[in-house]
Amino acid sequence: MAFWEEKSLDEMTDAEWESLCDGCGRCCLIKLEDEDTGILITSDVRCKLLDGDTCACTDYPGRQAKVPDCIKLTPRNVAEIKWIPTTCAYRRLAEGKGLAWWHPLVSGDPQTVIDVGVSVKGRTFLETEVQADEWEEHAVDWPEWEPPETL
Ligand code: SF4
Ligand code: SF4
Repeated sequence: MAFWEEKSLDEMTDAEWESLCDGCGRCCLIKLEDEDTGILITSDVRCKLLDGDTCACTDYPGRQAKVPDCIKLTPRNVAEIKWIPTTCAYRRLAEGKGLAWWHPLVSGDPQTVIDVGVSVKGRTFLETEVQADEWEEHAVDWPEWEPPETL
């Protein structure tokens, strides 16, 4: 049995926990708040530290000092934070759904995250390059999409 099938999130080692991230970058997109409803809307604007092609944080160890609202996921908060993408491996495991077929630990290939349309690779704009009056144009719904069961 694979570690994510036999261990709870609480029981995992740091290395196991880190390996669960599929590298999609969806959680590093900026959320916009609807002023009237308070509803959070995802944008196609990425955090200033996210590399738009590799979808990796360019300063993972120092991220919380540079981006104070960057959330460190934990076994506890992953089940509580509503904006964590439904495709996120941590959220899926917290909800008892297991890892999806396209997750690199299952498929054996990081490319499947891109092929299936979960990765934000090449689809985002850098937050420091978006003008104040342009933000509303960047609201998008594709980061909420659920990928197909097969390709
Ligand atoms: S949404 Fe989840 S799986 Fe995707 S980059 Fe963020 S932590 Fe990793
Ligand atoms: S600081 Fe890094 S991990 Fe945090 S939101 Fe930005 S890119 Fe993502």
